[in-house]
Amino acid sequence: MKSTPVQASPSIYDVFRLGRADGATPIDLTIGNPHLKPPASYYEALEASVRELREMPGNGHGYMTASDPFGLCRNIAADLAERFGAPFAATDILATVGATGAIDVILKTIIRPAVDVCRPQAPAHAPDEIIVVAPYFVEYLNLVRGNGAVPVVVESTSDFQLDVARIADAIGPRTRAILVNSPNNPTGRIYSEDSLKELAAALESKNREFGIRVLVIEDAVYDALVFSGRAVPSLIPHYGSLIRVNSYSKSLSLSGERLGHLAVHPDFAPEARRAEFVADLNLNMRMRVVHAPLLQHRVVARMPLRGFVDIDAYRRNVDRLHLTLSSLGFGVGRPEATFYLWAVLPDIFRTEEEFRELAFQGPSPLHYLPGALFGGDAYRRCVRFSACVPFPEIERACSRLREIATARREMSGAEQ
Ligand code: PLP
Repeated sequence: MKSTPVQASPSIYDVFRLGRADGATPIDLTIGNPHLKPPASYYEALEASVRELREMPGNGHGYMTASDPFGLCRNIAADLAERFGAPFAATDILATVGATGAIDVILKTIIRPAVDVCRPQAPAHAPDEIIVVAPYFVEYLNLVRGNGAVPVVVESTSDFQLDVARIADAIGPRTRAILVNSPNNPTGRIYSEDSLKELAAALESKNREFGIRVLVIEDAVYDALVFSGRAVPSLIPHYGSLIRVNSYSKSLSLSGERLGHLAVHPDFAPEARRAEFVADLNLNMRMRVVHAPLLQHRVVARMPLRGFVDIDAYRRNVDRLHLTLSSLGFGVGRPEATFYLWAVLPDIFRTEEEFRELAFQGPSPLHYLPGALFGGDAYRRCVRFSACVPFPEIERACSRLREIATARREMSGAEQ
């Protein structure tokens, strides 16, 4: 079996191309594409929606003209108000094309173009900056750069909490926003209430120092996948310049259906200014010729509010993989949420490339994502495994990990 060439610093797409040797059956622990089916209530709502659409006299598949045609935003507002004690209004919530679409439209709305093409004589100003906490969701950098800003990467603490002092140091007059993702991809950690309060205080102080308002984009896409079942702390009670984004990609296993939303905090700005800002967001969304898919909007609006997927399967997968990785000497904490395991390689592997070379070989190549994708060099000895696959695949992954470790030990024995 020929092994596939390994590159020094892969992009996510290189990883997909690697290890596709003929006849091999890869164990794919790369991306977070949920294998669980959506709950039964989703199919019931889907069937009811299809019946309704077929029987209605007019066309229910046209452009979306009303802002909240099925009451989805009203439901989200009620849920947020109940959970965080803040009076969110349905009018400050927009359905989006996943959380990615929400983040994209927010960035497009708040980032100023560095070059004003309509005033060629005007000097280009230094680009806006967006703070990104590492390790981070891989797409964040693309979203920031794609919207004309510079990502300012700040590492988290050694136990993957927010390093508020470092974040404060990174804030300057050009800072427009910070992306805060908890529960976190890739680490599976939840930011503590105390660290969020501390962050809010630091942001207020920097806002005063520079005469700015740093916007928090709170990405909560994993907040329904918490193993302890405890509520995930949010910045909502502590900081008003905030937009929360979420989606049904993970909580309802609908990643391909592309339904998400953004919710502008009630204290974001006085009501009139807030309404103007939401109108800008809406306009930018339409200029990208995307509104959230109407059928999914209709379906999810008629589902029970928190009738999410049953995460027992993820818990079982994560526990099994965690046990195997720990027994093989990986530095790995048990995730509090998500379905990711973030691990530091044991010393027997000199580099991540060395581990990858072995992992991607043979009839059962084990595919994962290299840590460097999630934050550069600081994480070059890390790897991320995504455990949203059927349990037998997790068992295959565990056997493969044991084989890889044995092969490496034998190789180092032979090298001595
Ligand atoms: N945010 C984080 C932290 C993610 O991990 C992901 C997907 O993996 C997304 C956003 C994208 O979510 P969506 O499918 O809703 O665009």
